[in-house]
Parts: sequence; C-alpha cells; structure tokens
Amino acid sequence: MRLSNYLIPTLRDTPKEAQIVSHRYMLRAGMIQQASAGIYSWLPMGYRVLRKIEQIVREEQDAAGAQEVLMPTIQSADLWRESGRYDDYGKEMLRIQDRHERDMLYGPTNEELITDIFRTHVKSYRALPLNLYHIQWKFRDEVRPRFGIMRGREFLMKDAYSFDVDYEGAVRAYNKMFVAYLKTYARMGLRAIPMAADSGPIGGDMSHEFVILAETGESEVYCHKDWLEVDVLSQDIDINGDLQPVVDSFLSRYAATDEKHDPATCPVPEGDLIATRGIEVGHIFYFGTKYSEPLNARVTGPDGKDVPVHSGSYGVGVSRLVGGIIEASHDDRGIIWPESVAPFLVGLVNIKVGDDACTGVCEDLYRGFNNAGVECLYDDRDERTGAKLADMDLIGLPWQVIVGPRGVKNGVVEVKNRRTGETEEMSPEAVLSRFSG
Ligand code: ATP
Ligand code: MG
Repeated sequence: MRLSNYLIPTLRDTPKEAQIVSHRYMLRAGMIQQASAGIYSWLPMGYRVLRKIEQIVREEQDAAGAQEVLMPTIQSADLWRESGRYDDYGKEMLRIQDRHERDMLYGPTNEELITDIFRTHVKSYRALPLNLYHIQWKFRDEVRPRFGIMRGREFLMKDAYSFDVDYEGAVRAYNKMFVAYLKTYARMGLRAIPMAADSGPIGGDMSHEFVILAETGESEVYCHKDWLEVDVLSQDIDINGDLQPVVDSFLSRYAATDEKHDPATCPVPEGDLIATRGIEVGHIFYFGTKYSEPLNARVTGPDGKDVPVHSGSYGVGVSRLVGGIIEASHDDRGIIWPESVAPFLVGLVNIKVGDDACTGVCEDLYRGFNNAGVECLYDDRDERTGAKLADMDLIGLPWQVIVGPRGVKNGVVEVKNRRTGETEEMSPEAVLSRFSG
C-alpha cells in the first residue's frame, strides 16, 4: 500500500478528548473515527488490526473444536421474554420496534438465540459435546462509554457457547476454552491472567476473567508475581488432551479481581502480591441450565431420559483488544505492534522522493515485498524526513526500511526494529530475502 494514496488521517497533536494512551494513539494514527458516543467507524489501518485479532481468535476457537456460525445483530424480543431477561436486562439493552410494532432489540449477547438454534436441531446426547461461536457486533447502551473503543456502546465480541449432557462434560468444555484463551492472548503478545471472578447465580468456581495488567485499566486486580514469568506459547499443550492438570497448574498461582480478592484470606505473602489495575479482555463462565431450562433445550441422555443441557459462555472483547494491545505495547513516540497483529509488517520510507536512485530502490523493494506477500506500507509522500519518520514511529509497524541517498550510494538501506530501535544496514536484496523468508 502506498501511503500517498492511503486513508490514514494522522494527527500531530493529541486530541483533547482522549484520556488514555491507546485512545490517543488510535486517533493520532488515524485508525478510528467516532460516529457518535461509544460508536466508531474503523478506518483502513484500524480495520486491518481488528481483522488480524479476529483471525487469531478464530484460529484458536477452531483448534479447540468450536464451530463458527453467524447470528444476527437484531433479535426478536420474544426469545428474551422466554428466558425472562427481556425485563431483567435494563437500560443497557437497545430496544427497537419494527414497522409492525413488534419488539426487537440489538443483541447485547446471544445466549437466547444460540439456545434456540440448539433446541431446534439437537435432540440427543450423541451430538454432544457441541461448542458454537460467532464474531459479531454487540450493542450495550453503557452509562459511561469511554476510552475510545475500550468501552464502546457498539463493540465486536467473539462469543462461544458450549452444550454438554452433564456437569463433567461442561467442565471439559470450560477447560478447553480456558486454554484456548491463554493461547489466543499470548499469540497477540499479551499476558492475560485468568482471575477468579464472580460467577453469578450458579456459584462454583467456574468463572474467570482474563485480564491484562495496565495502570489505565478499569478494575483493581491482584495476582502473584509469578504470573509475570508465565510463558504460555513455550508450553506444548495438547488442546484435545486431559486439560484439568494444565488448568490446575495455571491456577496454582493466585489471581483475583477486587470482587473476589479478600486481603484477610489471600494466601500470597505481601511481598509477592502485585496489586494493580487491569483491562478485562475476556470472560468465561459456566452457567449450567440457566437458559436450557426456561427455553426447554433438552437432550436424551444415555439412559434414555431427557435432561436440560449444561452450558457455558465464553467471550473475547475483540475490538477492546486493539486498545489493550496498544496499552501493553507502546512508547512515547507511538504504537509498537507485535508482528502477529500488525497492520503491515514493514514500513518502507523513501527519504528523498525527488531522487531517482532512492525512488528506484524503493519501487524495487515495494514490488519485491508485494510479490513475496510481505505486507508493506510504502511512504512515498513528498514530505519532510522528520515528519515521515515520526509518522512511521507513531503507526508502529514492527520493521522500518529506510531508504536515503547516502546509503543508496553505497548499495545499502537501513532496517530498523521499532521495538528495540536497533538498526542495521543491508543491501536491498538482503532485505527482501530476510522478510520473504
Ligand atoms: P465489563 O465488566 O468490562 O463491562 P462484561 O463483564 O460486561 O465487561 P462480558 O459480557 O463478559 O463483559 O463480555 C465479554 C467481553 O467483551 C469482555 O471481557 C470485554 O472484553 C468485552 N466487552 C464488554 N463490554 C464491552 C464494551 N462496552 N466495549 C468493548 N468491549 C466490551
Ligand atoms: Mg459490561
């Protein structure tokens, strides 16, 4: 992509309305545009990141055996009356009437709709376990939408729903999602810590919020300092194996949100306890037969008797993650994207657009990257060098390839790592083979 022809409205100055760094950088890097309070349009750069995150989430859900579906954003109120939540949900639910004056709503979540799909098609325990997910926009009329896409009113969520014939099956489904979540966040360069959370009406201990530590987070959280050493991706975990020992071993380290944390009973010695703030990027919980009973989602068990299915729901805040990743990975010059979610791998900067030699090298590199499938953003604008380099740092692509007249004379260009700041001079050919390899 050529920057001269790319819709990326970067800003020099910090927008006043943005209180936290991720919101500031998302606006300054031209990733989003507010449409109305808590509702955003995603501009090309922002949307590329959103799609990368979505794809990682999808791959890990698929690997865990969940099946992707797509449910609508607009739902009929009837199902919600069946579950009793139409009256319970309150003002966060956006209620709409269609032309026939039928009550509709913009889905804040999908337990009712997925249970309806399930009860229509599944009648026997033999079809279980089943886990269905979708990645779809939700609407919650939050009292205080803020921090940009972090707490939006419209936001993108992955929500999965598991169905099992009994509690033991539901535990297996829960553990699969638990591990899939750890992998998902780790692949985005995040350390998300599963924290014991309020489990609502069912009780029990099968409710965890996945939280990334950040001073700007909305909730107070507590965890053992050992969590900072955990490296999920280095562990070879078989998602189809027995996951109980794996989950137990992760949970042997203390972590809890302030709802659950009690200094009086906390087992961690003071010196080992981290008390900070965090951003909730996911939440998994088991809710038993809370929806299957009122909605009559039953299957025939092995003994021939009908039982209501046991379910859990598993949410990932896909759009919130864009902000979460920036909170976790930036410096005072801008964003530092992990490669896995970067909008482009390489930023190619032509320092001297009027110089035929520089432009020739850049055009060759650009063509080479495109042919090799390397995602490259090419700054071919006729702008001041300082402004171009500042924009590249702000946008935060993992690698910068800087082409200037002095280097080109010696047959080299500069390759800069955005995270470490380390630079290296290489021939254009070496650059191509390095990134195409
Ligand atoms: P919160 O406590 O932050 O309001 P929640 O408990 O209401 O979250 P869930 O219903 O568990 O959230 O939704 C699953 C995930 O969706 C959350 O973990 C979070 O990452 C994301 N999410 C929830 N509300 C919003 C929002 N208003 N804007 C962006 N993402 C959100
Ligand atoms: Mg909420």
